[in-house]
Amino acid sequence: MEQVKLNVIKGDITKQEVDAIVNAANNSLLGGGGVDGAIHRAGGPAILEECKQISANQGGCPTGEAVITTAGNLPAKYVIHTVGPVWHGGNQHEPELLANCYRNSLHLATEKQLKSIAFPNISTGVYGYPKYKAAEIAVGATKEFLQQHDTSLQSITFVCFDDENYELYSRILDE
Ligand code: ADP
Repeated sequence: MEQVKLNVIKGDITKQEVDAIVNAANNSLLGGGGVDGAIHRAGGPAILEECKQISANQGGCPTGEAVITTAGNLPAKYVIHTVGPVWHGGNQHEPELLANCYRNSLHLATEKQLKSIAFPNISTGVYGYPKYKAAEIAVGATKEFLQQHDTSLQSITFVCFDDENYELYSRILDE
């Protein structure tokens, strides 16, 4: 685990030059707003084409699971699409499902032998997950994955889009 660097930055995930950026997709994989809209806009139609094929083959993507596609015109090599839970108050398995997003994305990246990955703050936009709780799960699930698995990854970056998330992640990663 020592050699894997955990970073936090404030910025736009579509600009990250990493092996894979993670998308906070929805169950249909057919595109949405927020970070999903930004990724498809910046990456071009090749990403949506592959998402449509995956959707046709497996009927979308269940919450907590992840799939991988090309990154089209983005500087990243791949996009890992994972579906975060909608916040319903916390008693609908939201913590476990959100942790699964991070675990399954890290598994996919490891299977593909990737060295770097960048995550957005999954579920903290329109899906309404409280930011502090989501940040604790993101960091906790990532550290747990690294303790339990050998991975090709050398760098994991949490890309925060707003000041509040940036401050939360900075604080949690300092601890
Ligand atoms: P969800 O439906 O999972 O809540 P959203 O896309 O609404 O997904 O929001 C997830 C997080 O992504 C939010 O914290 C939002 O501020 C952030 N976000 C939106 N656009 C970008 C972007 N271009 N780069 C990084 N993060 C972004």
